[in-house]
Amino acid sequence: MAKKNQVRNIGIPGINPPSDTCNDKYCPFHGKISIRGRLFEGVVVSDKPTRTVVVKWERRVYFPKYERFEKRFTKVNAHAPKCLHIKKDDKVIIGECRPLSKTKKFVVLAKVGENERT
Ligand SMILES: [Zn+2]
Repeated sequence: MAKKNQVRNIGIPGINPPSDTCNDKYCPFHGKISIRGRLFEGVVVSDKPTRTVVVKWERRVYFPKYERFEKRFTKVNAHAPKCLHIKKDDKVIIGECRPLSKTKKFVVLAKVGENERT
């Protein structure tokens, strides 16, 4: 049996566990979710659903005809454990995990700063 308040090592270098704790079973540090797959850095555009945030980031797609890049955005739902206190306009790192619901398959791992723009 795992002790309460025990922090798991999520196996990703450079990401420190939060100082707070939580009882969220989908928390990568205090729950049972393991991170595998890809990591992304993005900005939280909505924190309205409980324990879920919408994270958006930019990618560039090359157009050979115009020899230019077009900006495109990716938006995903990510699970935000309470111990991280994620709010709107936060810059976060998210990691891929198993599907948590129909649209959620990412978990917020860390807050890396705040975005200036809306
Ligand atoms: Zn937690």
